[in-house]
Amino acid sequence: MSKVIVSSLYDSDVFRMACRQFDKAADAINLSEALRDRTKYPRRCLAVSLPIKRRDGSITVFEGYRVQHNLSTGPSKGGIRFHQNVTLGEVAALAMWMSWKTSLVGLPYGGAKGGVICDPNQLTDAELEHLSRRYMQEMVNFVGPHVDVPAPDVGTNEKIMAWMMDTYSNHVGHVESAVVTGKPIALGGSQGRREATGAGVAYLAKKYLEDLKVPMGKTTVAVQGFGNVGSETALALSRYGARIIAISDYTGGIYNPKGIDINKALNYVRYQKTLRDFDGGEAISNEALLELKCTVLAPCALERVITDKNAGRLKCRLIAEGANGPTTNAADRVIEERGDIEIIPDVLCNSGGVIVSYFEWLQNLSNYYWTRDEVMEKLFGMLDRAKDSVEAQKRKFKFSRRLAALTLGIQRVADAKQSRGLFP
Ligand code: GLU
Repeated sequence: MSKVIVSSLYDSDVFRMACRQFDKAADAINLSEALRDRTKYPRRCLAVSLPIKRRDGSITVFEGYRVQHNLSTGPSKGGIRFHQNVTLGEVAALAMWMSWKTSLVGLPYGGAKGGVICDPNQLTDAELEHLSRRYMQEMVNFVGPHVDVPAPDVGTNEKIMAWMMDTYSNHVGHVESAVVTGKPIALGGSQGRREATGAGVAYLAKKYLEDLKVPMGKTTVAVQGFGNVGSETALALSRYGARIIAISDYTGGIYNPKGIDINKALNYVRYQKTLRDFDGGEAISNEALLELKCTVLAPCALERVITDKNAGRLKCRLIAEGANGPTTNAADRVIEERGDIEIIPDVLCNSGGVIVSYFEWLQNLSNYYWTRDEVMEKLFGMLDRAKDSVEAQKRKFKFSRRLAALTLGIQRVADAKQSRGLFP
């Protein structure tokens, strides 16, 4: 019987949450003891110090991480987060979720995640560039097109991916576009990658609303988080004909029961950087936004915002998890008991991002580029198949939708480990 000493390395609320989700899923599919710990714990991680010269000439040392959870079926894949609250445990949990996500949707990848403890809003462009390049420089021997392929996440974007791709390429001595995804189109980025996560969230929400027989014209939406994922989710849902009644970012939210003009909000944020003082409606807090009466609630920011404290007060019909890990395990139990809210779990709901990252990687490796229509058609096809497999698993075993999605993802990783055997 395998026994793992759980190292204190990753210990945190969010890592324990991911572990408990895993334990529950492993119990549900009777995963053998021999495979459990091998499948559960991250394979390896790297922690780095990143000294950066500041605008005033002083030097600040930032701390960065990369956790590779699983590499059994291909290179590991996952974003890099720049945020002041990043911890190694959080990055490990996010890496774990990437494993189940890539496996669930059938990508030839394992899971990974990276993070740097910093507030990118407090850095100048030059400081951000130095930090991004320094991070990649430290990762040169840890990542690569066939080892681990980073991408954007909270606080990072195409510009940062471009600097990272350039730093890596300079080290190896030739252009290596496939080392990161989410790049600008000019450097081998894919059509549709920037909007892919939000477009996928909106597409799946639309499909589930069809199942629930709620017409788009009668759909109201509250989106928490107006970064890349939240804004694209809001935009795509408004284009489908839904009314977006609330949006928010870390500075607070805007509520307008008549509907918010998302293009106007996007333009505002382009120049003002945040939603603060946007005049599209009345001010609302992030906490109040989550409890609004609406059809679709889309948490698109950070983990653990729907908890056992507010789960009983939610007034939505469908939760579309654009963020990773927005719903705690205790909140899941409350929502399951209520029985009146459907959840599209994160590993399914926000998988559009990594799916188009996969398309980008394929295009880079083959040097053959697709049109936006081709990308979107393939993306929606993969989401349809993933949704169908989750629904079939849910029906077959009478699982919650989250358990159905996690068991599918985990089983495939465990099967791959089983088939490969254990290197002596
Ligand atoms: N950071 C995104 C996620 O959490 C995208 C990862 C990727 O494209 O590799 O799924």
